[in-house]
Amino acid sequence: MAVLEMEHSTEAGMQHAAEKELNPWEAQAARFDLAAKKLGLETGIGKVLRQPAREIIVHFPVLMDDGTIEVFTGYRVQHSIARGPAKGGIRYAPDVSLDEVRALASWMTWKCAVVNIPFGGAKGGVICDPKRMSQGELERMTRRYTAELVDVFGPEKDIPAPDVNTNEQTMAWIMDTYSMHQRQTVTGVVTGKPVSLGGSRGRSAATGRGVAVSCDQSLRYLGMRPQECTVVIQGFGNVGSNAALLLRERGYHIVGVAEWDGGLHNAAGIDVPALVEHRRLTGSVRGFAGADEANSDELLLSRCDILIPAAHENVITSGNAAGVRARILVEGANGPTTSDADTVLERNGVFVVPDILANAGGVTASYFEWVQDRMGYFWPEDEVNDRLDRVMMSSFTDVIRYAESHGVNNRIAAYMLAIDRVASATKQRGIYA
Ligand code: GLU
Repeated sequence: MAVLEMEHSTEAGMQHAAEKELNPWEAQAARFDLAAKKLGLETGIGKVLRQPAREIIVHFPVLMDDGTIEVFTGYRVQHSIARGPAKGGIRYAPDVSLDEVRALASWMTWKCAVVNIPFGGAKGGVICDPKRMSQGELERMTRRYTAELVDVFGPEKDIPAPDVNTNEQTMAWIMDTYSMHQRQTVTGVVTGKPVSLGGSRGRSAATGRGVAVSCDQSLRYLGMRPQECTVVIQGFGNVGSNAALLLRERGYHIVGVAEWDGGLHNAAGIDVPALVEHRRLTGSVRGFAGADEANSDELLLSRCDILIPAAHENVITSGNAAGVRARILVEGANGPTTSDADTVLERNGVFVVPDILANAGGVTASYFEWVQDRMGYFWPEDEVNDRLDRVMMSSFTDVIRYAESHGVNNRIAAYMLAIDRVASATKQRGIYA
């Protein structure tokens, strides 16, 4: 009996440990605690920055195409407004949870601080299955979610953007709904809008562009050349495909693409524009003639110079981190690596460009979009790209120098740099009583 109980409790303990590892909020908190300790952050300021400032949950009805009423649950979490308005995307997925949105909101705070743009951090999400919804249902859901949060959003308060399963069209609906309530057109309430509605040139490819700049900078730092470099990309959506296109243009060999429904491998390098076209026509990378079929999980662990997870959280965990054979990991997604996996990667000498740096190109271009909306004057694409490249290059250097001078890995360096900036703003503003 005693043995049985012990077995059960060990099993429960293991399950608890696994759940904890895969909880993005725990992953964020583990890095925050480590960085705060290394920084010697004051306990009181640490308490302020550890928690999100506001968490809003809405349950709202939507009329479905078949005449039934469905009730959806949506979140908006504002982690911090210490350095400026709250900023961050909105995602639609069946597994959206408050802890996930909390983590993503705090990552936005750290990301905006790493690239030194004047925003705080926020994130939103709606629990839904967008693949099973019509355009009409998605539009009604988006508009009602926006209406529920109309007092929360605002160009000086909280500015949404696209994220997983949301896009330019979603942002156009949010902008229109918000504007109808304000009785005037307010373009600056969202970023990632269509260029025809006050969007910025270069915004849609910006996250992928920032990932490509991060790869270039890593190679420079490590003394490698793109032409000798093989790349595996996990996720071929907006971030993965744009990064792949740019990397291929710069001479990198994209040897593997891993998607949720199957992977591709070609040791000689995949023709990326042809694959983008194939995916646009068929909706999948599968069946592409220019590469062999491959198992996506195995692709992650295949030998390559750069591995780019560009889809979602928890792709590299304690379960597979030891098998990663890439020299460099550039995190296009938010939270693709668990905190437990960090230790293994560091031990194995993998050079990590952490998410809050590597994928910050998107929000940096969002900042440019917001600035252009406020000016009512729009820049040519070259100017957006040049400014973006400069921000990404200098932020990369800041993080690497910080890591070297403090003797920490790149991820903890990025967190320390960001926490330090947000802590200074918080202290200077003082605690309102
Ligand atoms: N969703 C993107 C991110 O996670 C962009 C956010 C934004 O532009 O506000 O960084």
